[in-house]
Amino acid sequence: MNIFEMAQIPLNKAIETMKLDAGAAQIIANPERTLEVAIPVKMDDGTTKVFTGYRSQHSTILGPAKGGVRYHQNVNMDEVKTLAFWMTCKCAVAGLPYGGGKGGIIVDPSKLSKRELEALTRGFIDKIAPIIGEKRDIPAPDMNTNAQIMGWMMDEYSKLTGQYEPGFITGKAIAVGGSLGRTAATGRGVVVAALEALKLKGIAPADATAAVQGFGNVGSWTAKLFCDAGVKVVALSDVFGAIYNADGFDCYAVDEYVKKTGSVVGYPGSHPITNAELLAMKVTVLAPCAMELQITADNADAVQAEIICEGANGPTTPDADAILDAKGIMVVPDILANGGGVTVSYFEWVQNLYRYFWTEEEVIEKQTAMMIKAFKEVHAKAEQYGVDMRVAAYIVALNSLVEAMKIRGMC
Ligand code: NAD
Repeated sequence: MNIFEMAQIPLNKAIETMKLDAGAAQIIANPERTLEVAIPVKMDDGTTKVFTGYRSQHSTILGPAKGGVRYHQNVNMDEVKTLAFWMTCKCAVAGLPYGGGKGGIIVDPSKLSKRELEALTRGFIDKIAPIIGEKRDIPAPDMNTNAQIMGWMMDEYSKLTGQYEPGFITGKAIAVGGSLGRTAATGRGVVVAALEALKLKGIAPADATAAVQGFGNVGSWTAKLFCDAGVKVVALSDVFGAIYNADGFDCYAVDEYVKKTGSVVGYPGSHPITNAELLAMKVTVLAPCAMELQITADNADAVQAEIICEGANGPTTPDADAILDAKGIMVVPDILANGGGVTVSYFEWVQNLYRYFWTEEEVIEKQTAMMIKAFKEVHAKAEQYGVDMRVAAYIVALNSLVEAMKIRGMC
């Protein structure tokens, strides 16, 4: 089973639970459009290399496609299609006027010079330009892409259209129309969702512990904002290894250390552990914030956390979900828990369209309110149908999508 088929398992459970008609289900199961492009780049050594890129627009039923662009050596079309599908559902759960899209380039960006990376980025935009735009498809950062890369993309697209185009892309630097609060937004959303889950279980943040897998954008902000909320963060990790401290980390200090050294490994006062040990740690909240397929049938039984709050996209497989459910572990699913990033991307787009900018306090207040509302809606659906939070989140998404499809005459 490939990852796209795997991702549809909870969707199909939601479809069965809701007794959704087959036509509507088929529309959701298939991406509207996928594009593969070849991007030639003149390398610093004078040779030319051709890179493969993808853009998938899973749905534009509720609005323009929306979703990040990932640079990674393992990117493939199935992964991009899956991530685009999750974006459709995530935007619908968050109540945003967006569909879902995603892009990627097969590349290890650490192997490119800054000039090569810029040339690749501009070449990708040239190739996907016919299908993107502020009312068609709005890219954003994802793994290994950042505000600088969004800036090059915005500049290239503005050159192609001959006009200033801040609204065609989000996750930009403030100087070119970025939103205050965007960098921390996904991690903030993970923490808001985790705090709601703790509330349901009657656990005060001060009595909770957390383990966070991944210390990139999502993981580092999740960890820092857990600290701000009074949750004791006892384990952290990245691709190089994991660290533990029973007394809890000052995650802002760890962030400074990572900025200097490139990894959490070796942080003074920490004990080295493995990523596998981190996932099995006895904590209140486990936040997988690294990448997909981390909690599987092979290691789910070892998980001891009371709550899993998914910062990454697709960190838990359907087989693992069944095991976790049987163990009574509450999983706050990715399409709910990590929707904070796209929510503030939506705020960025709104601010770009109006050319009127909000304070960071306004952004945080609006984001928190939207995420709590989405959490409560999903939890209410879980109670109503007697399903887990993941299936409930798909039910919430499908309700919005089907209503719009019916009104638009699609089914
Ligand atoms: P990032 O590249 O900034 O960070 C990824 C982190 O994961 C790094 O610390 C890396 O070392 C670590 N990592 C990679 N492989 C690992 C492994 N096998 N074990 C442990 N750690 C590992 O990426 P990010 O933007 O933080 O995204 C992380 C996840 O969150 C992805 O699944 C992404 O799709 C998802 N996500 C990101 C955003 C966003 O706004 N950035 C929004 C929603 C979802």
